[in-house]
Amino acid sequence: MISGRISFTSLGSGSKGNATLVRAGKTLILIDCGFTLKEVTRRLQQQAVDPRDLTAVLVTHEHGDHIGGVGALCRRYNLPLFTTPGTRLSGRLGQLPDWRKIDPEHPFAVGDLEVWPVTVPHDAREPVQFILGNGVSRLGVLTDLGCITPHVIRHYRRCQGLILEANHDPDLLAQGPYPPSLKRRVAGDYGHLSNQQAADLLLQLDQKQLQHLVASHLSEQNNCPDLARQTLATSLNCTPDWVALAEQESGLGWRQLD
Ligand SMILES: [Zn+2]
Ligand SMILES: [Zn+2]
Repeated sequence: MISGRISFTSLGSGSKGNATLVRAGKTLILIDCGFTLKEVTRRLQQQAVDPRDLTAVLVTHEHGDHIGGVGALCRRYNLPLFTTPGTRLSGRLGQLPDWRKIDPEHPFAVGDLEVWPVTVPHDAREPVQFILGNGVSRLGVLTDLGCITPHVIRHYRRCQGLILEANHDPDLLAQGPYPPSLKRRVAGDYGHLSNQQAADLLLQLDQKQLQHLVASHLSEQNNCPDLARQTLATSLNCTPDWVALAEQESGLGWRQLD
């Protein structure tokens, strides 16, 4: 099922909203939509994408920064939506024109792409993250998890592209403005990956295959982009500027896997 290389972009990433676009041939998948319908339409247009060209929407979990505009977008453009039953049961999607069930760990096809939903430790009802492949290359999307499990390492071992959470620096989080309960949640095993946890994961993957690494879901208050890139670069033995950054406002330019 090879009909076009995989390319991808971020429409924005961080606690104020996340959305990732993945394309292969005529297949165009949106993963998560934490922006309002109006805002995501604007961001799609910035990437020269017409929302009518979307093949489907996939959602990782029901937190507002991932699900905010999903229901409205799917209703407006009559799009199929893939989620786990747990994510749907959160009741945050409203009426849907075409809901399709995700069985974690059971791959499924969306047009030219095969999608593997991988269970991750995060404080939502039934969260998954995704690996998308076209038979030649694989793109891993891995944000919103509190720790690295053997299961995660096994699945993400051989990706040519990786969009990886580097949420916080533990010292900045500890000194930062969050209330203690939120600090504990973010740093906990069901919260978010620190820069160092993300870097440790990279050491356990097959780095020779990696063509693109994108640091994402950075905290604006508890991290700084240079620090995140530097920490990840140490694991890859590359310069920090090789590590791309999915920004909250401007997202990321299109990238392509060979
Ligand atoms: Zn999130
Ligand atoms: Zn989350």
